[in-house]
Amino acid sequence: MTSIGFIGLGNMGGPMAANLAKALGAVRAFDLSPAAREKAGLAGCAPADTLPAAVAGADIVVSMLPADAHVESAYEVIRAHAAPGALFIDCSTISVDAARRVNTACTAAGFAMVDAPVSGGVAAATGAGLTFMVGGTEGAFTRAHDVLRHMGKAVIHAGGAGTGQATKICNNMLLGISMIGVCEAFLLAEKLGLETQTFFDIASKASGQCWSMTAYCPAPGPVPAAPSNHGYAPGFATAMMLKDLKLAQAAAASVGAATPLGAQAEALYALFAAHGGDVQDFSAMLPFLRGGGKI
Ligand code: NAD
Repeated sequence: MTSIGFIGLGNMGGPMAANLAKALGAVRAFDLSPAAREKAGLAGCAPADTLPAAVAGADIVVSMLPADAHVESAYEVIRAHAAPGALFIDCSTISVDAARRVNTACTAAGFAMVDAPVSGGVAAATGAGLTFMVGGTEGAFTRAHDVLRHMGKAVIHAGGAGTGQATKICNNMLLGISMIGVCEAFLLAEKLGLETQTFFDIASKASGQCWSMTAYCPAPGPVPAAPSNHGYAPGFATAMMLKDLKLAQAAAASVGAATPLGAQAEALYALFAAHGGDVQDFSAMLPFLRGGGKI
């Protein structure tokens, strides 16, 4: 039987590991947080007390960690303990450069690796409805597809190492920009005396329609599962969106791409985060704007 280690059991990794355990049997699951390990145990995983215990002899390792530094340091340990020839699948959102560095180090040590960041929030992670954007060789992609299909609705090969991350930061730069646009539109509609539901019913069938509105509406009411109906608890935290917008700006600078709206979105999310919005869902930009830049 394939031995799987899963590292990082937070908002996203917890439900992803649970879906993998449901589909493929025992998944050894590790997180620095004892509470997250306990929750994974209740969801059908086999909690491991240490990172080496989770990946010792593993054929497949899946990780879902916050940022570059967590991924780079975790894979130093993983390389030392996984089975020879194992496949590593990093689903975290990190920089293209870090993804390529880790891939090079793991490949040189005899492992296969893909970067496979995801689109879709906690609801998609829970319902195995994520979209995976995968960077790596054809062979590594084929092996990864067999695992990722149990956690998502779409598993798409973007190209060589790092292209999953490149796709992800372009997508999330667009998401950050579109969320701000939807927030501004709903705020203006409100000030012009329109009913929120009526504006939603019309705009969601008109040319302003987009995912930020129809699946994740920042105004409470029209989309019951959206964080706006749950006190703007993440969901996708502003701190994470800001991280992705910074990654996009760094990548844009490194290749000389003009992304002025991406830069504006980063600045606005940085302001919101500095006012305490970092722990709120990124759609809480709407009450932030409504309050004139206060929360
Ligand atoms: P999170 O903070 O909820 O979870 C991260 C987990 O990693 C935490 O439980 C933390 O304890 C654990 N961790 C950190 N370092 C560790 C280590 N060395 N070993 C083991 N565990 C460690 O974050 P999240 O929302 O689950 O996001 C994870 C990644 O997914 C991020 O890169 C984020 O950008 C990306 N992402 C998030 C969403 C979302 O909606 N939340 C959507 C798409 C992508």
